[in-house]
Amino acid sequence: NADTAMFHAKAHGRDNIAFFTQDMNERANERLRLENDLRRAIGQNQLYLVYQPQVELATGRLVGVEALLRWQHPELGPIAPDKFIPVAEDTGLIEAIGEWALRTACRQQRQWELHYDLPLRMAVNLSPVQFQQSEIVALVHEVIAETGMNPEYLELEITEGVLLGSDEQIKIDLCQLSLSGIQIALDDFGTGYSSLRYLSQLDIHKLKIDRTFIHNLTEGGPNASIVAAIIAMAQNLGITLLAEGIETPEVADLLARMGCQEGQGYLYHRPLPAAEIESLLAEEITKHTLSKLMK
Ligand code: C2E
Ligand code: MG
Ligand code: MG
Ligand code: MG
Repeated sequence: NADTAMFHAKAHGRDNIAFFTQDMNERANERLRLENDLRRAIGQNQLYLVYQPQVELATGRLVGVEALLRWQHPELGPIAPDKFIPVAEDTGLIEAIGEWALRTACRQQRQWELHYDLPLRMAVNLSPVQFQQSEIVALVHEVIAETGMNPEYLELEITEGVLLGSDEQIKIDLCQLSLSGIQIALDDFGTGYSSLRYLSQLDIHKLKIDRTFIHNLTEGGPNASIVAAIIAMAQNLGITLLAEGIETPEVADLLARMGCQEGQGYLYHRPLPAAEIESLLAEEITKHTLSKLMK
């Protein structure tokens, strides 16, 4: 808020006024620029997806990937999604971008399925804005039909922000998606306004525990009891758990012992370009063939 910033600035003397206003100006300009450039980004192929592997903790087996957006800006270089997705949401551009990401991810999943004959789940992030503004169920069905993808391998990641409005339409949308066999994952779990009521009333198949609870997880440490409680609750509700942001083998080990089924994080892989996922898929096939031969 500009007035409060000015007020605080004045309290600290004249020089600070110039400093604060210049800073705000720069930020406003930067945002305007991002907004304008983002409009062109889709058409000019500056957006692309990377895929971060998700593994079964007990075995390390690759079970899925999460599609994550990247923007290669022609002058500014790579821009992180945390920076451009809010801009896309405010301007409505998220509709076109989200649709592009969904279509690209599903097409990719189908192509891998045909090439490698391995069931690989594809997780796609959806913005709350996509639920408010568009016919999200119709779009998902259209993309599935068009790509020929098996809906059981599509997982849609929503955040607690989607559930905030919690009107009837969202319940119906999630129920319809889930009836088609699509999985729904609740992303960044524990950071938002999660009401436990959502978990029993809505069709949610998976919780992704946010990485703020995971990155410094130690046995008996401050987050251990929270994580244990989340795991117990998910088990009781029959919801799968995935821990985000696993960076060390100690954390992975502890989570597996605590009963968390799946994980994702730099310990395993960073988000990777499609070609590198293909190398991983080829490795999985080799392992699979070898283990069959041993039996
Ligand atoms: P998210 O969906 O929670 O994705 C996980 C984020 O954590 C990714 O950041 C990933 O690179 C990062 N990450 C994964 N493992 C680790 C780890 O071990 N340590 C640390 N420190 N970080 C890890 P990224 O790719 O920058 O994406 C940030 C957020 O942007 C995503 O958070 C998601 O909310 C949003 N986003 C990305 N792609 C899309 C998209 O296609 N649509 C929408 N609506 N949002 C997206
Ligand atoms: Mg996600
Ligand atoms: Mg997350
Ligand atoms: Mg997030």
